[in-house]
Amino acid sequence: EQTIGTCAGCGIAIQTEDAKKPGYAPESALGRKVVICQRCYRIKHYNEVAPVAMGDDDFLKILDGIGSTESLVVMVVDIFDFQGSWLRGLPRFVGKNPILLVGNKVDLLPRNINLNRVRNWMQHEAKERGLRPEDIVLISAQKGQHIDELLKRIGELRKGRDVYIVGVTNVGKSTMINRILHDYGAAELMITTSPFPGTTLDKIEIPLEDGRSIYDTPGIINRDQIGHMISPADLRKITPKSRINSKVYQLEDGQSLFLGGLARIDFVRGPKQPFVIYVDNDLYIHRTKLEKADEVQQKHHGTLLVPPTGEEAAKALPPFVKHSFKVKQSQFSTDIVISGLGWVTLQGRYEANVVVHAPKGVSVGMRRGLI
Ligand code: GDP
Repeated sequence: EQTIGTCAGCGIAIQTEDAKKPGYAPESALGRKVVICQRCYRIKHYNEVAPVAMGDDDFLKILDGIGSTESLVVMVVDIFDFQGSWLRGLPRFVGKNPILLVGNKVDLLPRNINLNRVRNWMQHEAKERGLRPEDIVLISAQKGQHIDELLKRIGELRKGRDVYIVGVTNVGKSTMINRILHDYGAAELMITTSPFPGTTLDKIEIPLEDGRSIYDTPGIINRDQIGHMISPADLRKITPKSRINSKVYQLEDGQSLFLGGLARIDFVRGPKQPFVIYVDNDLYIHRTKLEKADEVQQKHHGTLLVPPTGEEAAKALPPFVKHSFKVKQSQFSTDIVISGLGWVTLQGRYEANVVVHAPKGVSVGMRRGLI
């Protein structure tokens, strides 16, 4: 990678090779007297924070820095990809600082969802990973839903301290920051009129009226995200674009469902019952006999069973691993969640033995039903 001087904004080495990496500037920008990287350019001219991915080491340095401050840490996760959203090491680094957990993309959840259960589930998942957030706020950064509630909670919980916003890439952190900047002018949010005086790559500062600031940190890449296993085009195909509509499959034991070519659900044993699928509305779902499923998968992976699109893409996926679940008879429904893809709900009227096949690294787990 060739470097051509440093950015006048943040000081990072300029490179023209990879637009996703820090320090990128288009060739055309090099002729200018003052060269700044694309990220700083966008911030300066559009008040727009572009996502930037950075290496784990750099990120750990930032996290480490947060631990030695007195601050409120706002961690943003994607409700559909909790595992892939997880910032490993955060509990260790935040020290005694309080944490506000933000679940983004609430606009995609089906209408009849119980949001309290979503929050309870997030609390539980966070606790399992050693994090005890003060509160959980569910928002849609894209639709601008509950941003006011988020800002109110930040105001209450920060108690005069700085605020650090952290999250892995793709959770919608940039969309959220942009939403905050655009929707709430200086007066309402107490952001001063010049929002970005000290722009550096490692954190972006939004000054608050009391002399404190909101800092946005770059997203870190989490390899557990399904998005790192498939192409960007395929990722777009599995990412819900609008509110999810459930699809009901009456299954008998000995039947399987393929969710595109990214997961397979085997109904191994139990009485006939509905399997309610919540995935992107356009994702192709293929029903077959369990005894045939291996063969179908081998023959059609990447062709009929897409995404992944193409046999090459199918071969490039991590090998599938099995996750076994025993759903008991219960008054509550149960969801089996396939991180980044969606979930299947079993109503609990009957018991069921279910095996889910998914690429290694994709987390598959059970929770109390959200509906
Ligand atoms: P970042 O890497 O965390 O900064 O994520 P971005 O802000 O770039 O968003 C990642 C993707 O999620 C983009 O395709 C956004 O359009 C999408 N996105 C962000 N917020 C929302 C949201 O509230 N709802 C939905 N449906 N999509 C969102």
